[in-house]
Amino acid sequence: MKFALVTGGSRGIGRAVCLKLADMGYHILINYQSNLEEAKKTSALVEEKGVTAQLLKFDVSKENEVNEVLAAWLDANKDKAIEVLVNNAGIRKDNLLMFMSADEWHKVMDIAVDGFFNVTRLVVKDMLVKKYGRIINITSLSGLKGLPGQTNYSASKAAVIGATKALAQEVGRRGITVNAVAPGFIKTDMTEGIDEKAFRTLIPVARFGSADEVADTVAFLASPKASYISAQVISVNGGLYS
Ligand code: NAP
Repeated sequence: MKFALVTGGSRGIGRAVCLKLADMGYHILINYQSNLEEAKKTSALVEEKGVTAQLLKFDVSKENEVNEVLAAWLDANKDKAIEVLVNNAGIRKDNLLMFMSADEWHKVMDIAVDGFFNVTRLVVKDMLVKKYGRIINITSLSGLKGLPGQTNYSASKAAVIGATKALAQEVGRRGITVNAVAPGFIKTDMTEGIDEKAFRTLIPVARFGSADEVADTVAFLASPKASYISAQVISVNGGLYS
């Protein structure tokens, strides 16, 4: 059985990615942090597509939780393969740097950067053995361009881009590609409260994007068709300067 693991799969972009990967025939491991109700909704939608869904509850930033839950799953399922890993879990806690608390800084950094590390190092081992894998990291326009009020978020997403490029070089010979997808403004809970009209003039296609539009790019990168694309950052941002 071939599996895809999507961190932060309970809502938003993560849910859309779970559904696209289910369409590709993958059984889906849906990680979430706390929102069981939304995670169950994703799970039901995935199962409607005729594949299995399993919920894995852990905070990606907490090494002990990742080890307890994910390492335990890997141990108990040695006959199965996680072929696709999508590091999608993320939060934003915007503030101007001069007002930013240490907590706002560390929470955002820990989930994006430690989260990438905690999850990927467990999953990549088996990909190396099986000589096949697709790792896709969801970063952001903010990590490419830097956005004011988001020094924490921009730094965390830029760090993940660096990690993407480095890891791609470590594992490429083993049939594993590592890429990043950098969305612009996408309609999810994360952008609730941001006035689309105010930003429309800045975006060449003149609207926010949908989670599905990001998920389609992720699905392509996860497919065998993308076997010669690695160490790249693909922007999905309606043409915003980056
Ligand atoms: P969202 O709707 O707020 O969903 C966030 C997801 O991440 C939820 O599934 C949440 O789980 C999970 N999550 C948060 N903290 C976690 C943790 N510590 N451990 C495990 N899971 C955790 O966000 P989204 O808009 O879909 O964003 C998804 C990714 O795209 C993020 O990395 C974000 O930075 C990036 N992105 C988004 C946009 C945008 O405009 N929306 C733009 C650029 C990049 P629970 O449901 O359990 O809380």
